[in-house]
Amino acid sequence: MSKNVWIFAEQRDGVIASSFYEMLCKVKELYGDGAEVSAVCFGGGNLPVGALKDSGVDRVYLADHEKLAEYNPLCYTQTLCSLIRAEKPDVVLVAASTIGSETAPGVAAKLRTGLAAHCTELELDEKGELRMIAPAFGGKLLGEYFIPRTLPVMASVKAGVFEKRELPSKDAQVVHVDTGFLNDLDSGLELVSRTETEVTELPIEKAERVVCVGLGISNPENLEKARELAALLKASLGYTRPMVDMGYMENENSMIGSSGKMIKPKLYIGFGVSGSTQHVCGMKDSGLIVNININEKADCFAVSNYKVVGDSGTLLTELLKQFN
Ligand SMILES: Cc1cc2nc3c(=O)[nH]c(=O)nc-3n(C[C@H](O)[C@H](O)[C@H](O)COP(=O)(O)OP(=O)(O)OC[C@H]3O[C@@H](n4cnc5c(N)ncnc54)[C@H](O)[C@@H]3O)c2cc1C
Repeated sequence: MSKNVWIFAEQRDGVIASSFYEMLCKVKELYGDGAEVSAVCFGGGNLPVGALKDSGVDRVYLADHEKLAEYNPLCYTQTLCSLIRAEKPDVVLVAASTIGSETAPGVAAKLRTGLAAHCTELELDEKGELRMIAPAFGGKLLGEYFIPRTLPVMASVKAGVFEKRELPSKDAQVVHVDTGFLNDLDSGLELVSRTETEVTELPIEKAERVVCVGLGISNPENLEKARELAALLKASLGYTRPMVDMGYMENENSMIGSSGKMIKPKLYIGFGVSGSTQHVCGMKDSGLIVNININEKADCFAVSNYKVVGDSGTLLTELLKQFN
């Protein structure tokens, strides 16, 4: 029987997040023509109707209301819940983004259904039911999740794990969702201001070369050298989670791993990165992997094409001499 699969399309200022297209391509790969696929999009007068209609889905649900113009957890959760209750999809996929990671559990809890969070793979079992795969126990193992008894089956999916490609357009049916109930909904929240972070670098998940630093970079001088090397190689600078936790890095934008970005550059060079499963799951699909670590038994070497046992500061100084 044909499945009714929904994909939540996050948009900002009328631009659809790439995660929507990635999930859509995966759904098409899994189900072929055996599923009716819908995009669900929320906004306040700025909805990307044309792009969604042409995306390759069969149907587009648009919820257009001033209270959905900016992300609001209560309004998003209530709107998605009421739509799911009315239309009863079999599967609902949401990006494991900041918005999706808050909305999806709220919806699943209200509907008393299951959610597999932060999935890195989706498969179908022999009966055509969704098998969801996500890192478990802090990334130490991969868990396989089934939601056998309740509908919809819900999953949040990490951005960047699925390939995005052009799909044939289907001139989708557009359904305008009744959002009248939002008029009386007091979320208790008011957006005071919105500050855009200025992003000058290429997003790390799009970089062809990545220089990654871990705690074994040892000091701020070596960190500067790593930045210099990255600039010389036209590479983006990535880092491990402790580099953020210890305050070496300002934000998680270029953090690599299960709670950060999934990257597949042609070249990855790691300096003082231990190679924990949480980090490795985010970079193991890189083309050529080089790691520099003082400990010859470091886990990072298990996924490396080239292993350099040595001090990251010394190696950085030498490499800078070579490239300058
Ligand atoms: C729920 C959860 C989610 C997580 N998500 C992420 C994630 O998304 N990304 C992530 O990275 N981590 C994540 N972590 C943390 C992860 O478990 C590891 O702690 C982390 O990846 C280790 O970072 P590190 O390699 O920089 O530091 P360390 O583990 O301290 O390793 C430092 C390495 O540097 C080497 N070294 C020391 N001195 C030198 C030197 N002078 N020269 C060369 N090498 C040297 C050491 O031998 C060691 O291998 C997560 C943890 C949890 C529990």
